[in-house]
Amino acid sequence: MKRVVRTLASAAAMLTALLITSTVAAVSGGHLVISAGGTGIVQDVPDRTPIAIRNVNLLTMETDEVLSGQTIIIMDGIIAWTGPDDDAQIPDGARVITGNYYVIPGLAEMHAHIPSVRQGEQYMHDVLVMYLSQGITTIRGMLGEPAHLDLRDKTRDGDLPGPRIFTSGPSFNAGTATDPETVRGMVKEQAEAGYDLLKLHPGITLENFNALVAEARSHGLDFSGHISYEVGLIRSLEAGQGSIDHLDRYMEYLSGDAANRPDPNIIYFGYDLANKADAGLIDEAARLTAEAGVWNVPTNTLLVNVFDSRYSPDDMRQWPGMEYLPAQMIEGWADYVTRMRSQDDYDPDQARRFLDLRNRLTLALHQHDAGLLLGADAPQIFNPPGFAAHRELALLVEAGLTPFDALRTATVNVGRYLGEESETGMVMQEMLSAVRERAGN
Ligand SMILES: [Zn+2]
Repeated sequence: MKRVVRTLASAAAMLTALLITSTVAAVSGGHLVISAGGTGIVQDVPDRTPIAIRNVNLLTMETDEVLSGQTIIIMDGIIAWTGPDDDAQIPDGARVITGNYYVIPGLAEMHAHIPSVRQGEQYMHDVLVMYLSQGITTIRGMLGEPAHLDLRDKTRDGDLPGPRIFTSGPSFNAGTATDPETVRGMVKEQAEAGYDLLKLHPGITLENFNALVAEARSHGLDFSGHISYEVGLIRSLEAGQGSIDHLDRYMEYLSGDAANRPDPNIIYFGYDLANKADAGLIDEAARLTAEAGVWNVPTNTLLVNVFDSRYSPDDMRQWPGMEYLPAQMIEGWADYVTRMRSQDDYDPDQARRFLDLRNRLTLALHQHDAGLLLGADAPQIFNPPGFAAHRELALLVEAGLTPFDALRTATVNVGRYLGEESETGMVMQEMLSAVRERAGN
């Protein structure tokens, strides 16, 4: 079983001590993470030291079977061997890791945000560590800037701890995508700069969208994100959008003529249509999506955090991971949610219906084999990087996926979306306490 691994240990010579607490990750051709539920273990893992992870419970993701008593041997940053512990030949000088651990593939957060360099380099690096600490070995940054290209290179080369980065370029929206010529120029520029995909926000006219699609195709570039009002779900599917994020425009599709209204609020994603949407059209929407081969990144946690009255801002403040984020950011989120829920058109029952429709859509997309990818939109609105991806996994299960299928959205499906054998890293927790201190919590 030959497995490709980029270990943090081998990649990051700068890391002298790796603290394994809740999560350790390694990778396979399908990818592999070790998720260790136990107490922390500190390991010094110098560059290129062979690593043997002994006697663990292994979920390869090839099937939903957990193999117990497995040993994993990592040589030169590559998973060289896995098999029953009795058959393992531990290399000389290997760093041996033992414990009652579960090993699963490294997870991907496919609607990630990397902070802007304007927010400070330290915070940018801290966010990458947060992803890594929760077993997130791949992220797709959904609002890129030149500094992120540099981060992508540095994490790839092992000069900086962080997950494998894919990044969009700066956003296409009403303000930037002003006419077809400008749009073509932006696409060309982002292709030449080496961004991995284009990020769409709302407010793009149909004419500008069509120009974007044609130009993107000529560069072989993915375009993903929101769907603009003038574009709509059907045109987006027809154009072969890479991924639709936040289940954007599905509520409009379900609402027919009722959806002919200006967008009330960027965060609504059709909340105002919840009482008009025809749930009978969900299957059709899912079928069309599957047929078009377009992926979805539902980011259900984002909408739950804004709309779900089961969770108050005070509850959400206590969720794991908040302690690593700047305190004033959490305050801003609390204010935002409080404001949203005190608007005249906020109604808990309508919110429940909206979130239920989103769950049914999520499940229908899965059942129709329209691809789902895990994404939590972190760090935004009570979604701490990494931690929020775990919450999104739980919400996928709440929507009706099995835990195994939920894990697939962050592993196997990601490999399919990327059109390559996935690669993730051996990830270990460290430096989180320093991040927490910097956050001032
Ligand atoms: Zn986002």
